Amino acid sequence: MQEKYIVSVDMGGTKILASVLNSKKGIVARQKKPTNINSGTRFYVKDIAEIVKKVVTESKLKKENIVAVCLGVPGSVNPLSGIINFAPNLGIKNYKMKSELEKLIPYPVLLENDVNLGALGIKSYGVGKKSENMLAVFIGTGIGGGIIINGKIYRGFNFVAGEIGHMLVQKDGPTCSCGKKGCFEALASRTAIVNNIITDIKKGKKKSVLSSLIKSNQRIKSGALKNAIDRKDKVVTKRITEACETIGDILGSVCNLMNFDMIVLGGGVIEALGDFMMPIIRDEFNNHVLDAVAKGIKIIPSKLGDDAAIYGGLALADEFLGIKV
Ligand SMILES: [Zn+2]
Repeated sequence: MQEKYIVSVDMGGTKILASVLNSKKGIVARQKKPTNINSGTRFYVKDIAEIVKKVVTESKLKKENIVAVCLGVPGSVNPLSGIINFAPNLGIKNYKMKSELEKLIPYPVLLENDVNLGALGIKSYGVGKKSENMLAVFIGTGIGGGIIINGKIYRGFNFVAGEIGHMLVQKDGPTCSCGKKGCFEALASRTAIVNNIITDIKKGKKKSVLSSLIKSNQRIKSGALKNAIDRKDKVVTKRITEACETIGDILGSVCNLMNFDMIVLGGGVIEALGDFMMPIIRDEFNNHVLDAVAKGIKIIPSKLGDDAAIYGGLALADEFLGIKV
């Protein structure tokens, strides 16, 4: 029997990444292509088609081995119709991505929101394999979430379920990327943590190992936060601890509603700072969650990193085409 593979595509604003993979061999080929969304959606789709062809060639597999192309979209999509409703970072609105791309490549095209795909990747290939009811939360520049119910992704009425980053935590709190105030993301994402640290250092004139970076207006990445934590920096430790407490509270609250069996945390902040953050998050979670809900629940970091969404494509092929890849 012929071995089956999929191509997973990560649709970015400045570059497109494509990988060929299956569940037995993992990722067997990768390609990336710079792109320019300002050239228009038609050219962007052409770029996707080109990189798909290139990565299949690179994998040395035959056309017949590839059963689907799965797109991870940074925005809201309808996976049933194959329409991208809105992807602000790509400038794409109400676009029939599935049918347009299928005109250019000889494979069925499937699409899904990239955070949902991350959750599906953790469920189908990562630490969530045995979980039936799982919440995946990705903490980075923003905070995204994906919900698995009875082994399947829960998409909601308008296909936008899982927006845990926009749950209200603090009325009239800091303004969020969504325009509203006091969202979870506006209090506990890397953006929020860094903003708080900058305010502490500038206004309070406090000393920190990040002071020189901030003075020269350099971007503070997760690695710099990790370095500051390792050096027991007081300002950074305090602000990250606060974020962990907020994260633990929200997870406890959501679990009281949903009674998940597992919560998986991923994203750049957790990848860099998980050793420091996870115990504080678990403690605060336990403070807030009901005993009956908390019994047996696992709160663990994802080990798939940026590849989580790539593996999510395996679940899409199973769900929409009935093909186990
Ligand atoms: Zn928000």
